[in-house]
Amino acid sequence: MADGLKVRFWGVRGSISCPGAEYARYGGNTSCLEVTAGGRRLIFDAGTGIRPLGVELARRGALDLDIFFTHTHLDHISGLTFFAPLFERSNSVRLWAGHLEQPYTLKKVVGHLMQAPLYPVSLEVFQATVEFKEFKSGQTLSCDPVGMRTAPLNHPNGATGYRIEHDGRSICYITDTEHREGERDQTIIELCRGADVMIYDSSYTDAEYPRYRGWGHSTWQEGVRLADAAGVGTLAIFHHDPGHDDAFMDGVAREAALLRPGNARNGLPRAIVAHEGLTLSP
Ligand SMILES: [Zn+2]
Ligand SMILES: [Zn+2]
Repeated sequence: MADGLKVRFWGVRGSISCPGAEYARYGGNTSCLEVTAGGRRLIFDAGTGIRPLGVELARRGALDLDIFFTHTHLDHISGLTFFAPLFERSNSVRLWAGHLEQPYTLKKVVGHLMQAPLYPVSLEVFQATVEFKEFKSGQTLSCDPVGMRTAPLNHPNGATGYRIEHDGRSICYITDTEHREGERDQTIIELCRGADVMIYDSSYTDAEYPRYRGWGHSTWQEGVRLADAAGVGTLAIFHHDPGHDDAFMDGVAREAALLRPGNARNGLPRAIVAHEGLTLSP
């Protein structure tokens, strides 16, 4: 698998999954990305989208995987216990988080999730070799041959933004985060400067945002402003609110294409609304 950088979207929804005919095209599963590059397979978040990813991976024999969490709100971890590779003895899975403060650790948080009366079985049910890895948002992680920088995001209980680099290409994963009106988040701009793709928390529109101040999310228009300020090639609108059905998201796609028309140097559109199954190879 000596391959170039590629991201596949397995879950694009925020907050809670939303099955139904009116979400069929963009998808109802919550956050999960699969990034492949240079022989590595890196998974970002374990929302409900990680279940179908696990079904596909389970067919491939022994696996060596890393799962990076932006944070541990339920829409980003609730699929973990349904990820088939965790139930296979021959697999190794490393779980990473950079947002937690004492007394919390990633192992404790996942253990809490898998605990009576919330869940029928505990951590011991996993058959794979599972390692819990803690870091501090802002650290650079060693993921050879893939480069990985991180930064703290503005979200209740913390969250980590990631910049993944390989062979001169870069993808940034920036969710969940709340902007401050009228100013650009310099931490995000620094992390995303010149990136080929920025996947951004676009839960709301600018018009909706005032009703949701303090919930820790941003708008697709803020994504446009940040992408422009950071010189990002492609803005991928992501973490769609469950109140936004396919027809609504088509409208967002039209408006975003007006604000960021045309294609980036690599041929990808300068603005795209992420949907389940979308693959981007910058
Ligand atoms: Zn979320
Ligand atoms: Zn969150």
